[in-house]
Amino acid sequence: MEFELIERIRARVVARADVVLGIGDDAAVLAVPPGRQLVVTTDTLNAGVHFPDDTAPSDIGWKALAVNLSDLAAMGAEPAWCTLSLSLPGQDAAWLDGFLDGFLALAARHGMALVGGDTTRGSLSVGVTVHGLVAPGRALRRDGAVVGDDVWVTGTLGDAAAGLRLLQHGGPAVVVACEAGPVLEAETDAGASALLRARLDRPEPRLAAGLGLVGVASSAIDVSDGLAADLGHVCRASGVGAEVRLAALPVSDALLQAFPGAERPALQAAGGDDYELCFTAPAAMRQRVETIGAEARTRVTRIGRVVAGGAVRLLDADGVEWQPARPGYEHFAD
Ligand code: ADP
Ligand code: MG
Repeated sequence: MEFELIERIRARVVARADVVLGIGDDAAVLAVPPGRQLVVTTDTLNAGVHFPDDTAPSDIGWKALAVNLSDLAAMGAEPAWCTLSLSLPGQDAAWLDGFLDGFLALAARHGMALVGGDTTRGSLSVGVTVHGLVAPGRALRRDGAVVGDDVWVTGTLGDAAAGLRLLQHGGPAVVVACEAGPVLEAETDAGASALLRARLDRPEPRLAAGLGLVGVASSAIDVSDGLAADLGHVCRASGVGAEVRLAALPVSDALLQAFPGAERPALQAAGGDDYELCFTAPAAMRQRVETIGAEARTRVTRIGRVVAGGAVRLLDADGVEWQPARPGYEHFAD
């Protein structure tokens, strides 16, 4: 019975003082603190589409909440409550327990309470809705970028797309024919591979950075579809263009090790699932942004600037607009 599953969930949730009524009634009752605005967002993860079929239940739980928290981070909101809509192929208590391990660990880390949801039978799908709080009028939005602002990004880019790429194609290694049969010229080291896969499965929502950037950043978005696409959304909403230096994009050691060659720019500029924040801020705020990054223990890197126009231009080391080397680019853009 679904009630057993719901009871398994209810038994593990952590309370918050502002949850008047949580799991168990027809709906939750929440005490919104006076003088704050509610920020609400929802994201669904479907098996095989939003995570590989072999993903561990605990990683699915983590990621389902992380992608939603990442949206709150991009709004500069403080996490408060969430609901969970689960469609499960069968009643699998072990799977649910694993899922809750990841989901509730991330919720606890950010002081978020699970207050309700829905449990049905169907193909595996996880829908999460999160509620966050901001001071009135202070949410970070996509439409505030101004010509002359700097463009910044948190963390490193391209790792998740590289993790997926390694999973699907086994890496960039060149296959060389020899007498004994095809041989891999170079293999990605297991440590680098594991790190990249972890970035795909367990994104770290940049909540502390997002909160710190309130009143400092002129616009923000989280990088879920790839830097070029997501910065494009900011440009459209703000009525501006952007120039980004490819050489400035922050790169992890693992990505450098696994993709030392020409494939890396596409992974970094167009790969999805990074869940880093891309934001703009006035040049006068450079020192302030560095301090916010240090306080949030989050790397921040200035990657370009906001210009007039409407397009995102990616520039190579010579200042020439970069074009993807192969049509494979599109593959990473969705
Ligand atoms: P209803 O028929 O009123 O929708 P349900 O049987 O679906 O009631 O849910 C009973 C209670 O359990 C509700 O409070 C609901 O919010 C909660 N609930 C159901 N599924 C989940 C879930 N996956 N996660 C958290 N709470 C859930
Ligand atoms: Mg229901």
